[in-house]
Amino acid sequence: MNDTKKTFNRGDAVEREGTYVCVPCGFKKHFAPGETFSECTSCMAGSNTGHEDYVEGLELWEPAKDEEPTNTK
Ligand SMILES: [Zn+2]
Repeated sequence: MNDTKKTFNRGDAVEREGTYVCVPCGFKKHFAPGETFSECTSCMAGSNTGHEDYVEGLELWEPAKDEEPTNTK
């Protein structure tokens, strides 16, 4: 699969460890397999205390491929 633009919603299972970027605000957070994507701790998108314009079902987390280069092997 070459779906490099895949994004994830809050509550989705984390498939690959890495740094993800909050699409609405750009906040970066690290997630590991076995975890689920949480709400953004910066803008609180996905929670009812966050942005008023948050739309349920909006893709929230996007892989930050330019962070933490994995060419160490
Ligand atoms: Zn955010």
